[in-house]
Amino acid sequence: MLTILFAARPDRWGDYEAPLNRAISDAGFTDFRVVTEAAPEEVDYIVYAPNSDLKDFSVFPRLKAILSLWAGVETIVGNPTITAPLCRMVDTGLREGMREWVTGHVLRYHLGMDAHINAEPGLWAPNVPPLARNRTVAILGLGELGTACAEALLTFGFNVTGWSRSPKSIPGVNSFHGDDGLLACLSGAEIVVLLLPDTPATQNTLNAQTLAVMPRGSFVINPGRGPLIDDEALLAALDNGQIAHATLDVFRVEPLPAEHPYWNHPKVTVTPHIASETRPETAADIVAENIKRSEQGVELLHLVDRNAGY
Ligand code: NAP
Repeated sequence: MLTILFAARPDRWGDYEAPLNRAISDAGFTDFRVVTEAAPEEVDYIVYAPNSDLKDFSVFPRLKAILSLWAGVETIVGNPTITAPLCRMVDTGLREGMREWVTGHVLRYHLGMDAHINAEPGLWAPNVPPLARNRTVAILGLGELGTACAEALLTFGFNVTGWSRSPKSIPGVNSFHGDDGLLACLSGAEIVVLLLPDTPATQNTLNAQTLAVMPRGSFVINPGRGPLIDDEALLAALDNGQIAHATLDVFRVEPLPAEHPYWNHPKVTVTPHIASETRPETAADIVAENIKRSEQGVELLHLVDRNAGY
């Protein structure tokens, strides 16, 4: 009997119990159980959310893989008790959600929607936005989510640039990589979207120097992770007009503390880490596929490179 331990916040079990049982059964398994508690020596796989209380993986002698429900694995990747393969979540639901959230917020800035939503009644001030083809959007991080967002923005005609660690060739995207590539990617970008993982190499990617190469009056959208931005530098850039507005979904401390200046800043929109969430039905299929691969001795999907940190 395969024992699959579900280790996430207890309130998520109701969302995942049926999809996981359905997907693992669909993958051809009959002799298995998905449980929230088990004797450690009986556990074969752990379906894991990084905000679970489980932190010590050394107690599971026959653990074959840890299957994260989250795309971002920064809080678990350095865990020294992990010796089993660690996989992150790549889920069509997560991808679709991020594509929609990013497209919506890019269009808000591109169309200047706030000027009309917040206009004084009676003020007739026609402000015709440019076409998307005359607007450059930079996507920092051209992975699963960044690429999906870039492709969606291309369908509107945006001029899309992107930045990643390794060179990329995505049709229609002007791609850059490496340290020099970042400045080239940002110069000319009136809207920047951060979809990098949080690693030692990506922290403070947006800082005083990189914010300064963007055109004056640009916009920042961060659905990636809080540490990607030097908060002091962003606040200074908002205050001096270098950056016109920022939409921030993720923060160094979450929930964002009540006293944080972002909450009341007139040029900041805070969203509470809702840009995109793993969807149980589609994620369960990925989990089941990886269990099947593991049992067949086939390489797992979406393995985390623990040296790179993502
Ligand atoms: P991914 O597929 O691993 O893509 C990460 C991208 O970042 C890759 O293109 C990678 O380059 C690039 N990158 C990593 N380190 C870099 C560096 N030092 N310099 C330049 N580029 C670098 O990850 P994903 O699935 O797209 O997810 C991205 C992040 O989104 C997650 O890590 C998570 O933090 C965040 N997220 C947020 C939410 C939310 O609701 N707010 C939801 C899901 C995910 P290579 O292609 O060369 O490897």
